[in-house]
Amino acid sequence: MESQISENTLGEGVTPSVIPNLEQNFCQNISPRGYHCRMLAANGSPLCPHHARKAQRREPEAIEALAADLLDSVEDFQSPEDVNIFLGNLVKQVVRKRVSRPDACTLAYLSQLLLNSFAAINTAECRGQQEEEEIEEEQNKPTAKKWLWVDGVAYTVPESIPNDVAIETIRRKKAIAAASSDG
Ligand SMILES: [Zn+2]
Repeated sequence: MESQISENTLGEGVTPSVIPNLEQNFCQNISPRGYHCRMLAANGSPLCPHHARKAQRREPEAIEALAADLLDSVEDFQSPEDVNIFLGNLVKQVVRKRVSRPDACTLAYLSQLLLNSFAAINTAECRGQQEEEEIEEEQNKPTAKKWLWVDGVAYTVPESIPNDVAIETIRRKKAIAAASSDG
């Protein structure tokens, strides 16, 4: 009868040629003690539904743990020292094969960009400081004076003012002073 081909089919009557095929369908999970899981793998997955769920739950934790190890002693990448520490951490995790080569390359490239940005900031800061110093120096510089004779009287005027302008200004001031003392 056809209905008898059911649960007993995979029992004692199973032929050896079928076994490798079946083994491929077993869950690939190996326990910490080295035991293979005896459950059948879910369709399209190397794991049984139970271990697939477990692996999914473990994934965010594993990512968090790796991130914590990579960022250990790094303070927000505020200095080249931070990048240096990060690269050291990265090398350790690449050696332990916790970071794939493409990921490591991306992280190393980003670190390079960070280092470049520090250099750029440094240059801009230096330039700003230099400009500030130059302005300060200019302001603190004693104004060079020159002697100028106007109508028989010697005056000191700033070097930067042209003689004709200085003479005109002095004469105008004298005229105003004379007018006010007259009136
Ligand atoms: Zn399993």
